[in-house]
Amino acid sequence: MRFSLVLLLCMPFSSWNTMAQTSPAPNPQTQRITLVVHGGAGTISRSTITPQQEAQYRAALEKALTSGHAVLAGGGSSVDAVVAAIKVFEDDPLFNAGKGAVFTNEGRNELDASIMDGRTGLAGAVAGVTTVRNPITAARAVMEKTRHVLLVSSGADKFAAAQKLDIVEPAYFFTQHRWDQLQKAKARDQIQLDHDGKPRADAAPLEGADPFEPWMIDNKFGTVGAVALDAQGNLAAGTSTGGLTNKLYGRVGDSPLIGAGNYADNATVAVSGTGTGEFFMRGLIAYDVSARMKYAGASVAQAVDQTIKAALDDKNGRGGLIALDKDGTVKFGFNTEGMYRGYVKGDGKPVVQIYRD
Ligand code: ASP
Repeated sequence: MRFSLVLLLCMPFSSWNTMAQTSPAPNPQTQRITLVVHGGAGTISRSTITPQQEAQYRAALEKALTSGHAVLAGGGSSVDAVVAAIKVFEDDPLFNAGKGAVFTNEGRNELDASIMDGRTGLAGAVAGVTTVRNPITAARAVMEKTRHVLLVSSGADKFAAAQKLDIVEPAYFFTQHRWDQLQKAKARDQIQLDHDGKPRADAAPLEGADPFEPWMIDNKFGTVGAVALDAQGNLAAGTSTGGLTNKLYGRVGDSPLIGAGNYADNATVAVSGTGTGEFFMRGLIAYDVSARMKYAGASVAQAVDQTIKAALDDKNGRGGLIALDKDGTVKFGFNTEGMYRGYVKGDGKPVVQIYRD
């Protein structure tokens, strides 16, 4: 003990320096791991949410980021990380996915989810499931265990049960808050829609309602998504949702449609979106970002800005997306006041943002 102390004291300063320099260099593969998540976009500003709600959302976003990061840091794949992060959101009633999903016009919870593996180009999705606790796990099973991409409704529920996924009673998804939103939305519909379900020309604007989408309640989308880059350089994207409050029976949105609400390609980018699905479907928004990078040589930031402008701004649509390119560059894009979002990189420190600035 005394001997080693003497040795240390005798060490010239340059040796200390060398010791510091030879400490293990950061592993570049672990450094590039990145996970990005969102929990929906909308009228989310400091004046519309309380500090207590803000703290709840921040904690939930951090939990999803930490869960997915643990997978990536342990050498797991981007597909594993996306599923881990999305499961956290699906189990949290704050978000419109899994427990806490919105209700259809008929008072049911019909859930949609999709996943895409940027390495293989394979994808899986489910739409209109009512008994799968974590729809993202069913989407993954479709991708990995079938020759198909999309299973819907009772067939998708049956498949999930056959795969021994976590199956619940439809009542599991009930939350009072979403039920109350449905009642509000139905009351609005009676004022806004004609008997044939089309918007009434003579309907007066509703106080507090979105001018373009008056049926929106609270002006918030709560769909969740995650995109990841793993240590092997593989991208993946996943999206999960309950859809839109008061949606018609059988309505399917963009979230389970590859290229619309979700897309991943190792050569370009991984994207997950949130917003009025019909705009994302008509504009093939997630694929549009990738195409701008692939064919026009745009950077991820340029591609996202151009897509948001062309497919949302110019068409009076609303929403946002998260994008992560093959080099680990993170880009958020949204034309709403805010978007619940965050990312974590190799250092494991989650960064969470809610507002525009
Ligand atoms: N994009 C989803 C849908 O239209 C809704 C959302 O983002 O919350 O189904």
